[in-house]
Amino acid sequence: MLDGWGDAAQEKLKDSKVFIAGVGGLGSPVAMNLVLAGVGHITLCDDDTVDVSNLNRQFLHGEKSIGVDKTHSALKTLSAINSDVDFDAVSQKITSGNARELIGDADIIMDCLDNFAGRFALNQYAVEKAIPMVHGAVWGMEGRVSFLNPPLTPCLACLFPESPPLENIPVLGAVTTATGSLQAIEAIQYLIGSKPALANKILIADYSSMRFQELEVSRNDDCLVCGQLSALSTSE
Ligand SMILES: [Zn+2]
Repeated sequence: MLDGWGDAAQEKLKDSKVFIAGVGGLGSPVAMNLVLAGVGHITLCDDDTVDVSNLNRQFLHGEKSIGVDKTHSALKTLSAINSDVDFDAVSQKITSGNARELIGDADIIMDCLDNFAGRFALNQYAVEKAIPMVHGAVWGMEGRVSFLNPPLTPCLACLFPESPPLENIPVLGAVTTATGSLQAIEAIQYLIGSKPALANKILIADYSSMRFQELEVSRNDDCLVCGQLSALSTSE
């Protein structure tokens, strides 16, 4: 009954393949919302096991799953909700060496990781195969979301040429849930053929003040990952 949906949009979701990198704080709401919406094919990828410290936010997992692979725990929760979804569970760390094998021909990549080594591997493959990626990140009471699909938008390396330092990130569970839900909405909009709202923008949600702002972002012509595309698109 939503405007612009109908059977056609629902069929598009059913035929879609989504690769979810990370089934933790962001991956839990992303995966849950895509499963609820009726996305037909979902790959869950995470090389971690469930730890008690995850349980304040990673709601696909519970106390009984402590020590279990996150992908297996997530699969159990999600398949109980929608058994029509065709799931793949991959308990591996994403690297530039295995990205092709793991991601394949997904229609969209959901960046729900907490480290830039993995994110850059995703980004590299996404740019190479022209697969759009929805980037999500959280820090404390702040969440960020952007839709990346060069050459139409920047890639992740245009926005972050270098890895920020690795650190333990404090976060409120509801912040990851809200931010992951925004990522899911953005992906669903794209998959049904609507214009992604966060192309060439990064949404910065400050949940402590409930202030949401959008910053315009643009491509870096010298980007080591997508700069080549820039040269091609300007010569056309
Ligand atoms: Zn780039």
